[in-house]
Amino acid sequence: MRFALLSSGSGGNSMIFEHDGYSFMIDAGISMRETISRMEASGMRSVEPSALFLSHEHSDHSRCAGILARRFRMPIYSTEGTASACVRGLGSVPSMRRLDNGCSIQAGPFTIEAFRLPHDAEDPSGYVIAWDGGRLGVATDLGCWGEWLVRFLGGCSALVLEFNHDLDLLWSGSYPWPLKQRIASSDGHLSNADASALLDRLIHDGLGTVVLAHLSRENNRPEIASRAARSVLGTGRGLLLGDQFTTTPAVVL
Ligand SMILES: [Zn+2]
Ligand SMILES: [Zn+2]
Repeated sequence: MRFALLSSGSGGNSMIFEHDGYSFMIDAGISMRETISRMEASGMRSVEPSALFLSHEHSDHSRCAGILARRFRMPIYSTEGTASACVRGLGSVPSMRRLDNGCSIQAGPFTIEAFRLPHDAEDPSGYVIAWDGGRLGVATDLGCWGEWLVRFLGGCSALVLEFNHDLDLLWSGSYPWPLKQRIASSDGHLSNADASALLDRLIHDGLGTVVLAHLSRENNRPEIASRAARSVLGTGRGLLLGDQFTTTPAVVL
């Protein structure tokens, strides 16, 4: 299975997956032009996605969903809450399909299971994506975690996890007080410290790759987030960082 995090952060989120000739995307927060150019830059030039999953309605995840769905003639899957919150911005799309949290669907060679995340959106989703060679867990835009999340993500061979902010940088930074409170709340975004503690619960011999996602440009630094993740992972496992301005290379999972 090949995977690339095309864009990650509050400026836009998008990721793409391909296995056995079938491809799908999660989120559509960057323009069509950027999506195509980053697919090429990642090494996934000839891939044509067949489905788009929307994690939630915030514009950094959904703003280009309509245009991408039309261009690739692909259905959009989301919870009912996400669909109703962003339907007016989508325009006419080939098809809207329900994937409720707690449910899973088969998409080509993938089984995709959605689960609820704690975030200030209508009904946001994380995903566990299973194929014949492994399981990838995706959890970004979550304010906290608990045993329920460890149950969903346990046993994954790869993870895309939010490492949003460093708490010291957040509280000492320039954001207005209400925004700082929103980010740090249990419905906001995950700090490096919380994400590392989660990673510590999820680590096992079969975990080969971890991708740090949704890093704040203002309240985080790539080296601080990597250090936090490495302190749990040690060396010898793949570690990638998502970025708003450039794609990761396509990685084989
Ligand atoms: Zn976001
Ligand atoms: Zn969000």
